[in-house]
Amino acid sequence: MIRISKPEQAPHILRERGQRTTAANQQAFEDGQRAFQFDNSLYGAKSVKNALIAAQRGKCAFCESQVRHIAHGDVEHYRPKGGVRQSEGEPLEQPGYFWLAYLWENLFLACQLCNQSFKKNLFPLADPTKRARSHLDDLAAEEPLLIDPVEDDPGTLIGFRGEIAFPLDDDGRAQATIDALGLNREALVEFRFDHLTPFKLLRGALSLLPADSEEASDILALFEAAVLPGAQYSSMIRALLADPA
Ligand SMILES: [Zn+2]
Repeated sequence: MIRISKPEQAPHILRERGQRTTAANQQAFEDGQRAFQFDNSLYGAKSVKNALIAAQRGKCAFCESQVRHIAHGDVEHYRPKGGVRQSEGEPLEQPGYFWLAYLWENLFLACQLCNQSFKKNLFPLADPTKRARSHLDDLAAEEPLLIDPVEDDPGTLIGFRGEIAFPLDDDGRAQATIDALGLNREALVEFRFDHLTPFKLLRGALSLLPADSEEASDILALFEAAVLPGAQYSSMIRALLADPA
């Protein structure tokens, strides 16, 4: 996971139709409505998706896989819109964060596995009694356990030992994020291992080469490209290069 910087201004459709729909849903809630339908053509609009693809360079906000190579990618809600669970196995609480369904800050591009197989409706809080139930509650009082790739700097919270993600913090947020998103799921770990192996070999080769050789500068250029924000699993390669071993 790496930090994501989204343009401050939301795409037009969210500022117009998105805001109008949100205002109507908020009024309906105040009038007693508790079940909501969501319009995928708003939060999933092409302009929204394209803005997220550009900001995230085509990568899943959570696992750093290049989504666009193999799939369309999901527009995913950080705080789930339709219903929410504190943990796997606990009952689904409804409504979810219905008033954030069309909010730009709440949207990310995610791969289908992170979104549909792992995160789903999970949104654990340090203290679930502080959960906001509607726009009338104080969202800022929540202490989300899931790392927010815009608000937080994931690189200071999740580290890597080889291809395995592990927590750098001591308040449980990184572990909760790794668990909820399946960041150490078997297929992903295998894929990261395959990606990591040549960089380990190159790092070994670099230590044997004269620093001013052409081969050494070629290897350094590969390392530089591998830690760019658009590179797959850049946080893992960054951790490898930071490790003096
Ligand atoms: Zn993913």
